[in-house]
Amino acid sequence: MTEDIAPKSSMPYPPLHLDKKFVALSDWDGTITTRDSNDYLTDHHGFGLEKRREGNVRILSGEPFRDEFRLMLKSVAKNGHSIAECQEILKQNISLDPGFLNFYNFCKANDIPFVIISSGMAPLIRAVLSKLIGDEEAQNIEIIANDAQGEGSDWEIKYRHEESPFGHDKSQAILPYRRLPNPPTIFFFGDGVSDMSAARHADVLFVKKTDKSDNDLAAYCTREGIPHILFRDFNGALDVVKGVVDGKLSVEKALDLKDASAVASA
Ligand SMILES: [Mg+2]
Repeated sequence: MTEDIAPKSSMPYPPLHLDKKFVALSDWDGTITTRDSNDYLTDHHGFGLEKRREGNVRILSGEPFRDEFRLMLKSVAKNGHSIAECQEILKQNISLDPGFLNFYNFCKANDIPFVIISSGMAPLIRAVLSKLIGDEEAQNIEIIANDAQGEGSDWEIKYRHEESPFGHDKSQAILPYRRLPNPPTIFFFGDGVSDMSAARHADVLFVKKTDKSDNDLAAYCTREGIPHILFRDFNGALDVVKGVVDGKLSVEKALDLKDASAVASA
């Protein structure tokens, strides 16, 4: 469905990285971060875990993710928390994958564009990143996400694709690369429901292993027969990406690993 009709975007996209051999795209919440920042805000500063769970049940029975996610975030604003406050809360409480900085630096050193593709809001993502990679780098890192609109505690999420049930159709960040005359090899990293639209369009799909029993993206990929590599953290994924970038591993061989921890014995 996403391939034929592109939903209208309310925000511009950054220019495509042309003539690159590799491009790395990654989900933010639960993939680069170790816990979901919007769930954290909702559970501790919004309407709480119980109501969020009820929303998740409604999503599973067909309610658009976009609408339930908007309600979650509205409950945080309704409790009087501004975006600036949310930024501070998340800076204090959200940590990043232990291998992320290493991975990000590898990409920079090897001319591999790294882009964050998120269903969250860019100002919150940049705030959390600034703690780890510094303000300047956090302002410059490429993020394709949703935004926030409004003032003080009177704010709400501004969706990139208001007409998509996901609010942000992530496949729209990948498909333009696939249409290039010399498309790059695309690495994609994700963990959840919001990554399903993008999952099948990557060349090498990495799915984050969680300790929770509900690994939504892994279950979806297995059911749909989408080849993917499980990874525990970005250090593990880096071993596979290095192999592909150095030409020691073909894309097919990389996918055959099925788990990043298998690369040492490959
Ligand atoms: Mg996620």
